Amino acid sequence: MSSGFSASMFTKYWTALDSLSRWERLKIRLGGNVSIGFYIKTGWKAPIEFYAFWCPVHGIVADYPHGYNERLTCPKCSKNMRAS
Ligand SMILES: [Zn+2]
Repeated sequence: MSSGFSASMFTKYWTALDSLSRWERLKIRLGGNVSIGFYIKTGWKAPIEFYAFWCPVHGIVADYPHGYNERLTCPKCSKNMRAS
């Protein structure tokens, strides 16, 4: 998995949030996580899977798991949630 990804894909996960189904939005609202695909950021060696999840302040946001406990962090306010 190398040639099909580019740095520009990183910004597209926000677009992916707009195309979530009604069921996926409900699952997120109830505290679940929904995978929105693999994205890569400048400087990363490989794409990482991003998840959409619920922030009590900002609603549906997306992040990738951090650290050993796969913590998801709202990119706008840094509230934490565990990845499933
Ligand atoms: Zn937030």
